[in-house]
Amino acid sequence: MIYFNVPPVAGGEEENIRDAIRSCKISGDGKYTKLCSRWLEKRTGTAKALLTTSCTHATEMAALLLDIKEGDEVIMPSFTFVSTADAFVLRGAKAVFVDIRPDTMNIDETRIEEAITEKTKAIVPVHYAGVPCEMDTIMEIAGRYHLKVVEDAAQGIMSSYKGKTLGTMGDFGCYSFHETKNLSMGEGGALLIKNESDVEQAEIIREKGTNRSKFFRGEVDKYTWVAPGSSYLPSELNAAYLYAQMEKAEEIYNDRMRSWNRYYELLKPLQDEGILELPYIPDECVHNAHMFYIKTADLAERSNLIEFLKSRGIMAVFHYVPLHSSPAGKKYGRFSGNDVYTTGESERLLRLPMFYGLAAGDQEKIADTIYEFYKGR
Ligand SMILES: *Cc1c(COP(=O)(O)O)cnc(C)c1O
Repeated sequence: MIYFNVPPVAGGEEENIRDAIRSCKISGDGKYTKLCSRWLEKRTGTAKALLTTSCTHATEMAALLLDIKEGDEVIMPSFTFVSTADAFVLRGAKAVFVDIRPDTMNIDETRIEEAITEKTKAIVPVHYAGVPCEMDTIMEIAGRYHLKVVEDAAQGIMSSYKGKTLGTMGDFGCYSFHETKNLSMGEGGALLIKNESDVEQAEIIREKGTNRSKFFRGEVDKYTWVAPGSSYLPSELNAAYLYAQMEKAEEIYNDRMRSWNRYYELLKPLQDEGILELPYIPDECVHNAHMFYIKTADLAERSNLIEFLKSRGIMAVFHYVPLHSSPAGKKYGRFSGNDVYTTGESERLLRLPMFYGLAAGDQEKIADTIYEFYKGR
């Protein structure tokens, strides 16, 4: 059996967790949370990185910081995970879905402007598969219309666009450390904050609406409730797990990249023959091998291929059901312009097993099985 995903284990996680237990500090914002935040700040160059309980929560924090309210509109792709929309819809906003580009499956930056109304507050580009969106264009539009930008960089750790790390170009950037992501803490995430002026309020929202962070730094002599907030800080146990992976980040990155390139080489002949499509990485982008997908001719062919792979013990999965076609998406969102690519391309996409430590031999077996499937047709 070849699993679709195996959560990363870098070595060192257990030792770190034991260390956290021995230190008698397992709630949030201890040694390991600080090490993780510092790693993120150093690696990305952001003004501030706050570790959170998930990327969903990081995005919720961004929505709170932007004071998103009932009646506001937020522009995003429909081809994304539900959290992208949830965070804003929870605050009463309407999700305005824009079509994707078929080459990267990212939001089509040329379709954003026509989706803007006087109610629009923010644009949320999702860097699908860790491949950057066309950020120069998106930031230029946001600047012209005075809109905020929240990058859903859940899949984007260690990727960059024209040398800039994903999550650092928008006002806020949201990372995920879910077990399916390149670096993991089980459940967890981070909020990257570009503007120093947003940091204090972010710390307050993350700590139940208190100025506890200031208190710990000795900036106030007691802490108190100063604003509405929630609890978005993860336990030290999770941070201890994540930090072990951050220390091995290069090794994890290189291993995934080797697997990604191997898939590409193995399957390229099928693309050359016009049978399959493989991912496309724009020249100005550095990706992180988060995902390897192929695109079949159509939905029926994809379903057959999934079954065929499964019969040979290979787990391959698809996603996403476009949000605008979901029950909540119909209620809380609207599609701007035409769905030229979102539904059609999403129905062709199939994700192949991809994780840290994926064996070359297993990849060869997967490729052989795909060749066998197409030979019989
Ligand atoms: C994984 C993912 C999320 C959610 O991350 P969590 O940490 O599980 O909340 C959000 N958006 C995208 C695009 C994702 O892939």
